Amino acid sequence: MDRYARQRLLPFLGEEGQKRLEQSAILVVGCGATGSHIASLAARVGVGRIVLVDRDIVELHNLPRQVLFEEEDVLRERPKALALRDRIRSINSSVEVEAYVGEFHPGNGEELCRGVQLIFDGTDNFQTRFLINELGLKLRLPWVYMGVISTVGHVMPILPFKGPCLRCYLSEEPRAGELETCDTVGVWAGAVSLVSAIGFTEGVRILLGDSPSFRGLFTFDIWSFQWRVLGLKRDRECLNCGRGEYRYLGPRGSWAEVERVCGENVVCVRLGVFSYLELMERLKRCGEVKEGEYFFKFRSEEGREFTIFSDGRVLVFGTQDFQKARSWCARYIGL
Ligand SMILES: [Zn+2]
Repeated sequence: MDRYARQRLLPFLGEEGQKRLEQSAILVVGCGATGSHIASLAARVGVGRIVLVDRDIVELHNLPRQVLFEEEDVLRERPKALALRDRIRSINSSVEVEAYVGEFHPGNGEELCRGVQLIFDGTDNFQTRFLINELGLKLRLPWVYMGVISTVGHVMPILPFKGPCLRCYLSEEPRAGELETCDTVGVWAGAVSLVSAIGFTEGVRILLGDSPSFRGLFTFDIWSFQWRVLGLKRDRECLNCGRGEYRYLGPRGSWAEVERVCGENVVCVRLGVFSYLELMERLKRCGEVKEGEYFFKFRSEEGREFTIFSDGRVLVFGTQDFQKARSWCARYIGL
């Protein structure tokens, strides 16, 4: 039986397109909601090589929208990248899959991009997305930006120097604490599936040598059923693709610093620019906030504890693991 018989009938794919997919390699940065959907689709349609990067372990509250994970993964506290790698192998043994458990950062980004033709953004934070944007430009690698929050989704296929980049759209990164996150306002599984289906299809168009079907940012609200494409053009003054400056790559690149607080089960994360009061007001809606002088304490409904100082330091309690601390910060505070 020919596994791909039904998709091979599609005029845009055919024998040649299928072969091209099988010779393609993709990098999926972040294996949560959108990342796991992308990995599942890519494995099923036969993308030849899939590289997975994720720093988190599977948790029970992931299961409503993160595909391929199971209750068993939660019980065994499996890293998402490894659980996904194993599921992919059992779905399609002809796909080459590599998993990296850890953070995607300026020090390993380039190495992880080696040999791939396309990056899918499955992250939950803008710091990593802007790093992907810089890497995409530096390595001339196209990528697909995807984001979901509540019932709203965003997709933007990005072709380096051939169209607008992420920084042409957002010249300044949203500050830490400025945006809502899925841990503060929730997220609907249907919106995740739709974003992933659109993002994946745009990515496949690029892999097959076609242009994306839209230029700019596709946004929709699956609940109110409203959608539009925000037309975007390259900004000649864009810091990244216009002026060729990078904020994260290179020796002077900035990246939220993390350091361990000695002798305690605490990690200190330093935020960049952030809005202290806004963050405090927002966190009041999803847990308990106790105000102090120059700092406030936050306890989430799940019992995670943070102390946030007005100078941008965040103490993350209950772990000595840098990656966990950054991951929890990304979820509640936004990095
Ligand atoms: Zn740009």
